[in-house]
Amino acid sequence: MSYNVNEKGYYGEFGGAYIPEMLYPNVEELRHNYLKITAEPEFQAEFDALLKDYVGRPTPLYFAERLSAQYQTKIYLKREDLCHTGAHKVNNTIGQILLAKRLGKKRIIAETGAGQHGVATATVCALMGLECIVYMGEVDIQRQAPNVARMKMLGAEVRPALSGSKTLKDATNEAIRDWINNPVDTYYIIGSVVGPHPYPDMVARFQSVISKEIQEQLLEKEGQKNPDYVIACVGGGSNAAGAYYHFLDQTDVNIIAVEAAGLGVDSGESAATSALGKVGVIHGSKTLLMQTTDGQITEPYSISAGLDYPGVGPMHANLYATGRAQFISITDAEAMDWGLKLSKLEGLIPAIESAHAFAVLDKMKFKKDDIVVINLSGRGDKDLNTYIDYFKL
Ligand SMILES: *Cc1c(COP(=O)(O)O)cnc(C)c1O
Repeated sequence: MSYNVNEKGYYGEFGGAYIPEMLYPNVEELRHNYLKITAEPEFQAEFDALLKDYVGRPTPLYFAERLSAQYQTKIYLKREDLCHTGAHKVNNTIGQILLAKRLGKKRIIAETGAGQHGVATATVCALMGLECIVYMGEVDIQRQAPNVARMKMLGAEVRPALSGSKTLKDATNEAIRDWINNPVDTYYIIGSVVGPHPYPDMVARFQSVISKEIQEQLLEKEGQKNPDYVIACVGGGSNAAGAYYHFLDQTDVNIIAVEAAGLGVDSGESAATSALGKVGVIHGSKTLLMQTTDGQITEPYSISAGLDYPGVGPMHANLYATGRAQFISITDAEAMDWGLKLSKLEGLIPAIESAHAFAVLDKMKFKKDDIVVINLSGRGDKDLNTYIDYFKL
């Protein structure tokens, strides 16, 4: 049994491409070409060179000595916070923009919620000199002014989504409408392991550099490629997919997925998709999502904008359903406390998303010689105002 995608685009019962007929040619073009193009030596050489010289890879695997001493186990941190733009998201946008160029696309569109994926997309469009249009809910534009400013500086046009709740799902609808209307010259960059096949697999492959490096770095530091545990936070699931990728079928590696419980799993203000979700279709893929009994998507909540998503990617839905991964949900308060704790203990101010992953250390017991890898998906600069308000700094 494999936990990776099959030829039809499914992870177990999850995945597929549930899309309107008008989008079919665009998605088919991508499905036909993505494996062929990304396997070309010139593609791989250009991707690797940009990851090295532009993103700053390989990111270090840091042995956290003080943290390890406190928890009586060996804790390594994969330092995605050191990537250019401050998180793992750019690994994926670099890969997709190289693919877009090879497909002859001249115009890039994306949707963004908190703005992090919008910034990562605007960054690679500037790098390649391509037109960039980012759809963003009008409410999010008000809430995320610094990221809107960043996108503008990078030359992107930020178009407000004015319908519905004026947040991420409305921005997604606008982006899909744009793509339907511009099928020939436009490429749609999706920011996580979500959306219709082949997006989840494609994004997981671009992010899989994370676990490839973990294997090489652990071999050097510990004389073995596999850790005992790999831990990552899950919004849509891309940093987690990258951290798990080369361990998916290695069942001696325990996979821990951390979701945002917001104010508490049963509070009605949460984004704990595995605990609360039911099978449904969101953004063109069959997966677990939070919904009402009549199938309306529930508004998610988390203090961290990057985990505030009502579904998870199909890979993660399958990891949950099969029991391959253990899912743990962490509240706002637990994550915020870890933001402060990691800062004081290791001199690392984490993104609030990443802080959720560390809170697992208080929920599980590890053995003294266990090797535990936590994916530090991003740095906390973008969250400084939230930290200031929360802790009255
Ligand atoms: C966007 C983001 C996430 C959540 O997205 P995934 O696709 O689940 O990885 C997690 N951490 C950081 C720092 C982010 O910016």
